[in-house]
Amino acid sequence: MTGTTQRTTQDWQAADSAHFLHPFTDFQGLARKGARIITEADNIYLRDSDGHRILDAMSGLWCVNVGYGQRALVDAAATQMQQLPFYNAFFQTATPPAIALAEKLAEVTPPQFQHVFFSGSGSEGNDTVVRMVRRYWDVLGQPARQVIISRHNAYHGSTMAGASLGGMSGMHAQGGLPIPNITHIDQPYWVEHKLPGETMDAFGIRAAGWLEAKILAIGADKVAAFIGEPVQGAGGVIIPPATYWPEIQRICDRHGILLVSDEVICGFGRTGHWFGCETMGFRPDLMTFAKGVTSGYIPLGGVMVGDRVAKVLIEQGGEFEHGYTYSGHPVACAVALANIKIIQDQNLVGHVHDDVGPYLAEAFALLGEHPLVGAAETCGLMGALLLVQDKATLKPFDAAVGIGMVCRGHCFANGLIMRAVGNRMIIAPPLVITRAQIDEMAALIRRCLDLTL
Ligand code: PLP
Repeated sequence: MTGTTQRTTQDWQAADSAHFLHPFTDFQGLARKGARIITEADNIYLRDSDGHRILDAMSGLWCVNVGYGQRALVDAAATQMQQLPFYNAFFQTATPPAIALAEKLAEVTPPQFQHVFFSGSGSEGNDTVVRMVRRYWDVLGQPARQVIISRHNAYHGSTMAGASLGGMSGMHAQGGLPIPNITHIDQPYWVEHKLPGETMDAFGIRAAGWLEAKILAIGADKVAAFIGEPVQGAGGVIIPPATYWPEIQRICDRHGILLVSDEVICGFGRTGHWFGCETMGFRPDLMTFAKGVTSGYIPLGGVMVGDRVAKVLIEQGGEFEHGYTYSGHPVACAVALANIKIIQDQNLVGHVHDDVGPYLAEAFALLGEHPLVGAAETCGLMGALLLVQDKATLKPFDAAVGIGMVCRGHCFANGLIMRAVGNRMIIAPPLVITRAQIDEMAALIRRCLDLTL
């Protein structure tokens, strides 16, 4: 049976474990438990195949910025599919939606960005970054500048280059990663690295200094670029001190190194500005995006190319031998245009910055008083609760307890999707969330914390 309706949950689960290899999944573990089958969604709520209503505090995978059920996105896709479902951007051709989206992205991104290179996902976008920064230095006659510096526990995707840029040790342990000439420094995570008595500002400067130490150890004439997420998402919503990124910018400038912001999660309003680099106060040369550009309704990603790089590639680079069949896919671009129109028309960035972002911070401050919570942190509509055994000393639970997974289990059972990264419980709800829905979400979180105690 291949239909998508009128099957029981058990039927779905049996077919799922018989045929579907899920990403980032222990296949046998899933087969034992059976997948949760999500069947429909509206606004910030999902419904599963047993009819349960679930508050999606993760926006799918950090992507459904405008929320579920936005008719304008459906109409944009249908109209474009009727008119021109596909044509490529290779061989000196283009389609109106791809051109219009390129123009729109130049409008909503910081002023140094006037050009875009489209991909199908964030991982592909970061593969493009690797090839583009190396090509840039080649064209400038500095081919020795090959090394790209990233951070431990970063997530930059799952392709060979994306996973190599990422700093996830579990990923590096499989498949011969990282590829050559990619290296990592520590993440600016105060819980692990701040010294006793050190202020957050001083810690931020010291953590940025790890980049300079790495550059000097390698030799600046061999370093092509530094890449980072403004706020590390999949690593556990690691929000750096305010001093960190401006100091990173100064270090990159001092050594002439390209600065790349991976905005796949932080872009399109998540942090309370259009892009995370604006919230964190730095000026990248390249910017990867995906997810929020279409709110996940259809795959699309890309790289915003700043003037410094674009000028060299356009004026001196000749043919850039790189691209994807779906670079600038017309249906995806039409959906992205409709999505950005909603973000603009409903002033969702202002809504996060002025209203629900500060409101979430207040709600999290209250959750921070819970006996299990050692720290509660937010940035725009990203948030993390650090679960600890002892609030005073921040003593962590024994890893064998799997405290995050225990808490996440209670969330699932109580109609809330929240993610666990080690001992950090994290959220990133749709930007359309209201104050009343934040109250509802915070009450659910509190209940799940109580159950975890
Ligand atoms: N970069 C960041 C910061 C991400 O969080 C992700 C995905 O979560 C990616 C890149 C990879 O994007 P995709 O899964 O669309 O390839």
